[in-house]
Amino acid sequence: MTRDENCIFCKIFSGEVKSDEVTRTDDALVFRDLNPQAPTHVLVIPKRHAANLGDFVASAEPHEVGDLFALASRTGRAASPDGYRIVVNEGHEAGQTVFHLHLHVLAGRRMHWPPG
Ligand code: 5GP
Ligand code: ZN
Repeated sequence: MTRDENCIFCKIFSGEVKSDEVTRTDDALVFRDLNPQAPTHVLVIPKRHAANLGDFVASAEPHEVGDLFALASRTGRAASPDGYRIVVNEGHEAGQTVFHLHLHVLAGRRMHWPPG
C-alpha cells in the first residue's frame, strides 16, 4: 500500500494536514514534532505508507531504508554537530502511537541513557 486514507502522516505528506516542514524530497518528508522533546525534534517519514519499521523493511526497495536513515542523519548533523539521537518506536510496548513509520531526530540538549 502506498497511501492509507485514514493515516495522519500520509495526510501530512500530501499537505492535506498542515505541518511545519523542514525538508521535502519526492520520497520523504522531515517536519517538526507537535510535542517536541528536545530543542530540535523532527520526524522523518517515507512517502510510502508502512505501519512500522519492520513492515517498511519487509517491503522496501534496496535503497529505501538507507535513504531514509541518510536523510535522518543529515538532519541530525545539521541541527547539532555535537550529537543527535534517532529513535524509532515499533509497537505499543515501545510507545508507538502513530502507525506510519517515522524516525524521531532529537538534538540540542544532553540525551540520557537508558532512554526509559
Ligand atoms: P510515536 O510515539 O508513534 O513514536 O511518535 C509519534 C509522534 O508524532 C509524537 O512525538 C507526536 O508528538 C507526533 N505527532 C502526532 N500527531 C502529530 C501531528 O499531527 N503533527 C505533528 N507534527 N506531529 C504529530
Ligand atoms: Zn501513512
